[in-house]
Amino acid sequence: MKITILSALEDNYMYLLVDEATKKAAIVDPVNPEKVLKAVQEEGVKLTTVLTTHHHWDHAGGNEELVKLFSGGSLLVCGGDDRIGALNKKVGEGDQLQIGSLKVTCMFTPCHTTGHICYYVRGESSETPAVFTGDTLFLSACGRFFEGTPQQMHTALIEKLSSLPSNTNVYCGHEYSVASLKYALHVEPNNPAVKKKLEWAQDQRSRQLPTVPSTIEEEKSYNPFMRVGEKSIQDYVGCTDPIETMGALRKDKNGFKAK
Ligand SMILES: [Zn+2]
Repeated sequence: MKITILSALEDNYMYLLVDEATKKAAIVDPVNPEKVLKAVQEEGVKLTTVLTTHHHWDHAGGNEELVKLFSGGSLLVCGGDDRIGALNKKVGEGDQLQIGSLKVTCMFTPCHTTGHICYYVRGESSETPAVFTGDTLFLSACGRFFEGTPQQMHTALIEKLSSLPSNTNVYCGHEYSVASLKYALHVEPNNPAVKKKLEWAQDQRSRQLPTVPSTIEEEKSYNPFMRVGEKSIQDYVGCTDPIETMGALRKDKNGFKAK
């Protein structure tokens, strides 16, 4: 599989996912349809599918125009929420999609919104898998709980995403990494994985380079929301229950200003 990172708006990412064997492609959260069209033409691929993570405008807002640009009406527009524009394939937990020879498994991860989906992609068995996490899992953070509960985010991050193979590449919906890692360092000042990743992320951003992808293994080492079972995180918020810790941590981060 080949994944091209396409930046959009201020800090959003769209991703062009290509099956190199068949040149079939999917686009994740195509908020800027013109840019998607250009990338599809440059790569010489056939766009078959839209993978929408959730209904928010900065992710799903380009769907209708994209469908018009790729006239013929043959685009499969996937998502887990009826509020998603041009949706013609509603998906849920465990649903399977195919992009050429690539296998996509839908993971239902409600909390940021009630219909949020993450897409887990596998190619050949020797290939590194990938997951597109929208606004559920960010590099070193998670999305706000607009339509859900700490229990739901705990299920999404700790039960579902943490169970993926540790080498899975994580492609999230926004470039928030430096601010998120500053928060992680505030929570765990003695975690060397946080310091190292923050320095690396600052260097990447100073050269206008993206910080995605990370991996599931890396997220478990520095992302406080993936570490709510750890004593250091529980001590920070003063809880002993991982779900309460998840809720308290999200609330704390809402009020945190990175310097
Ligand atoms: Zn969102």
